[in-house]
Amino acid sequence: MCGIFGLTTNQNKPIGKIALEGIKRLEYRGYDSCGIVCQYESQLLVKKDAGKIEEINKRLKLDEFPSDSKVVLAHTRWATHGPPTKINSHPHLDCNNKIAVVHNGILENFIELKEELQSKGHVFKSETDTEIIPHLIEENMKTNGDLKEAVVNAIKKCKGAYGLAICHADYPDTIIAVRRESPLIVGIEEGETTYCASDIPAFLPYTRNCYILEDDEIAILKAGTVEFYDIYNSDFPKEKQIQHIEWSIDAAEKGGYEHFMLKEIYEEPSALRRTMKISSDSLKKFAEILLSAENIYITAAGTSFYAALAGKFIITKFLGKYIEAIECSEFKTQLINSLEKNAIIIAISQSGETIDLIEAVRWAKKYQPSARIISITNIVGSSITRHSDNIIITQAGPEIGVAATKTYVTQVLTLALIALEIAKLRKIEKEEEIQKYYDALRATPEIIENFLEKNIELIKFIVRNLEKNLNFFFLARGISIATAKEGGLKLKEVACRFIEGYSAAHAKHGPISLVREGYPIIFIAPPDETYERLIGNLMEFKSRGGKIISLVVEDDIKITNLSDITIRIPQPGDMYHSIFSPITFIPALQLLSYYAALEHNFDPDKPLNLAKTVTVH
Ligand code: GLU
Repeated sequence: MCGIFGLTTNQNKPIGKIALEGIKRLEYRGYDSCGIVCQYESQLLVKKDAGKIEEINKRLKLDEFPSDSKVVLAHTRWATHGPPTKINSHPHLDCNNKIAVVHNGILENFIELKEELQSKGHVFKSETDTEIIPHLIEENMKTNGDLKEAVVNAIKKCKGAYGLAICHADYPDTIIAVRRESPLIVGIEEGETTYCASDIPAFLPYTRNCYILEDDEIAILKAGTVEFYDIYNSDFPKEKQIQHIEWSIDAAEKGGYEHFMLKEIYEEPSALRRTMKISSDSLKKFAEILLSAENIYITAAGTSFYAALAGKFIITKFLGKYIEAIECSEFKTQLINSLEKNAIIIAISQSGETIDLIEAVRWAKKYQPSARIISITNIVGSSITRHSDNIIITQAGPEIGVAATKTYVTQVLTLALIALEIAKLRKIEKEEEIQKYYDALRATPEIIENFLEKNIELIKFIVRNLEKNLNFFFLARGISIATAKEGGLKLKEVACRFIEGYSAAHAKHGPISLVREGYPIIFIAPPDETYERLIGNLMEFKSRGGKIISLVVEDDIKITNLSDITIRIPQPGDMYHSIFSPITFIPALQLLSYYAALEHNFDPDKPLNLAKTVTVH
């Protein structure tokens, strides 16, 4: 995920300054490198580098471009292919430095296309997937000469997700914008200036009139005008409805949501869809490493640790081997006398910078040089990637809210995808069976979408109901203990309530003494192998006057009949879906925490005493 900004104008505007401000307003989408290209006297002038926008601006004066240039593109990157370096930062150019491209998304077939273009003599400078686009356009223009036609034919060859903005040194007034899956919006000041951007706030200071590009649409931007075409029917322009935006800039940055936390919960379906596309080669590599391992550890901190607990459960089902989960801060202390040679350590961190995790893996490598670190993080080029033998990058996109939400579901999904690769390699399940698990995983975004659509009022009602309870429990068995613990952590983080996620069976060894008439207990109850036993635990609390709130699947009957309130997750009640309930049940608890924070006047985006990246011990 990254931020694109562009404009073409016939006015005298400080276009470098406007582009710089535009990408600053998109910095929440990516912040590891940036660049600006401006078209001037049939040339492309490029400034780009790795680092934060403000630092680069101090070095390169990003706002200073010739005052009479009229076309500019800018980009703030969140690396997916190739580390954040100057060369990999956008824009990317063709062999003749005539065509410039900025890109948001991932081109899945870039390796094949790159080889094809290299065999035709194209020379690539970066490691990015993006760079194939300017070369493809260059190649197409050799036969055709028309920029629009060359872009359309290039796009037809690309698989994957993209928001693209393209300009050409010899087309002094044109930007071409095209999208599939990654957002792109065209803003317009009629007759004067046309903008394109990954998100509305980038051009909101200049215009409130815009067009939202749909998948497979291409827009030809000229100063103050725009035409739209379908990629697969590009001969005739199509009508599009103009939209008028009423939001303030602050609201627009949060996509109209009141807080980033809420926005990021609503982004979970798209984050999951992107993560589903992680290359099967890297998943398979992880699966092979785990299959050949004798001793496996999984380690993380905070939310990532609960993702690890859920993931360990899913992986062991298919791997048939024990995996020890250890909080990274305890890793060395607990293993100082016993870490085995050739141990495999799965390290998980949203930021890739969690200092306790870095120390754990550094120590493991020093103590047992033959140990292997395989890590999962959301940030390309982060510290953990430098200490790892193998890496998988989740595709949650930047997360601004301090409390992790969408990164959690993508971590669990990544571990689940590794588990299914293991199932395929081990052939312990029939192919049709494995496909049913894949179908269930592929259904998770839609389940969350349906849930979010229908349950907000119910969640708010429960929050009001729980308002006076300073403490209570989330109880669960089996894999759902991870969900209960993560739910409890979210409430502690954002709503400052000491709500504990606990094993339902273990709860009678202590916590049950807290139960009085009306004391709330929330049970996490997907219909898995623990369901009947959980009913027994539920009865223990109910018979002591506990008020039972349950999370169940839509067609649940037994626990529903025993509960005072149910939150119903719209998913089938079978084992294929139940094992992935840590993904589909958690949004309910994240929302509960979010609205509880509001109820108690806390800012959910800035929990007290917390930081997004924990770089102290
Ligand atoms: N895949 C491109 C890159 O790695 C774009 C990244 C993005 O959209 O986040 O540079």
